[in-house]
Amino acid sequence: MIPNLDIPDFVRLSEMLATPKRVIITTHHKPDGDAMGSSLALYNFLKQGGHEPLVITSSDYPEFLHWMTGNNEVCIYPRNVQKAEEAISKAELIFCLDFNQPQRLDKLVEVISRSTAVKVLIDHHLEPDNFCELNFSFQKSCATCEILYHILIKLNKSQINKQVGECLYTGIVTDTGSFRFSSTSPDTLRVAAELMAIGVESHKVHDRVFDEFSANRTRFLGYCLSNKLVILPELRVAYISVTMEEQSKFRNQTGDTEGIVNYALAVKNMVMAAFFYEQEGIIKISFRSKADFSVRDIAAQHFNGGGHLNAAGGRSTLSLDDTIQKFKDILPSLKDLLLNTEL
Ligand code: 5GP
Ligand code: MN
Repeated sequence: MIPNLDIPDFVRLSEMLATPKRVIITTHHKPDGDAMGSSLALYNFLKQGGHEPLVITSSDYPEFLHWMTGNNEVCIYPRNVQKAEEAISKAELIFCLDFNQPQRLDKLVEVISRSTAVKVLIDHHLEPDNFCELNFSFQKSCATCEILYHILIKLNKSQINKQVGECLYTGIVTDTGSFRFSSTSPDTLRVAAELMAIGVESHKVHDRVFDEFSANRTRFLGYCLSNKLVILPELRVAYISVTMEEQSKFRNQTGDTEGIVNYALAVKNMVMAAFFYEQEGIIKISFRSKADFSVRDIAAQHFNGGGHLNAAGGRSTLSLDDTIQKFKDILPSLKDLLLNTEL
């Protein structure tokens, strides 16, 4: 979708960026491809424009994203508290990318909220909180990177070089499941084509993001699929759960759990899939669905989360077994919806 940028917020943003600014770029906890792709695309773009940008994340992120230009300059807050806090206190602009609730900043939430810098939201999640002065929230866009592409083109097309393009392409390709999900529009493919035209080698991005698994990650995926997949055909639901012990057995790294939930949803006739993975003191849950069945509502109502219609996440402080039981207890009330969803 092409976002409508004929809005006062765009005028204000371009006025602010007309002179060099100290800029912080931040994104959600445990950043994914769209989060890091948009952050580093904007970072590289602003650097070329003579600004002083710094990307600050609340946590580390998957190794398959480390190849992007600017990665070595990313400031991971818990490892660089002083540097991050100093930079935030001096910032004139703070970009909040790919999230729509301050809590998604995890440990960064307070220091960012305290800042008096002008905050700019660029995001595509449903039902955003109102915590930024300038808002570019376009919920029909497939990725934050798709929105950012249109913003950057309108700001200064000549500053979108190959490196900026690779970061944008990464966010689009990861958030659309390689142009598979229903969020992929003709406009999305046109953006991808434009990015290729400026030099992005799409096959190389795909290789780096999807085809550089560690042996352990591949074995972990195999274990999840052969030993842990539960299918409830009468409800059209499939789920997978893993304990911390199981994850450490495969020496899991950040990002090794990504995408596993899609395999559960890929079983024929499934309408909803869930993936429960135990973390220190918390159970994280990834939800996926097909057609118009909303997993965002389930994540928001029952698991303290949110996201999109077909891809959402949440958390639970119950034990892993109790979390799964809670999930199974909700299913009967959804049975009619699940069975009536047309695929
Ligand atoms: P994933 O399952 O890949 O972690 O996340 C799927 C989608 O849901 C992403 O767009 C992500 O930003 C969103 N999401 C994941 N976890 C949470 C959460 O705890 N709260 C909210 N509001 N959104 C989440
Ligand atoms: Mn996204």
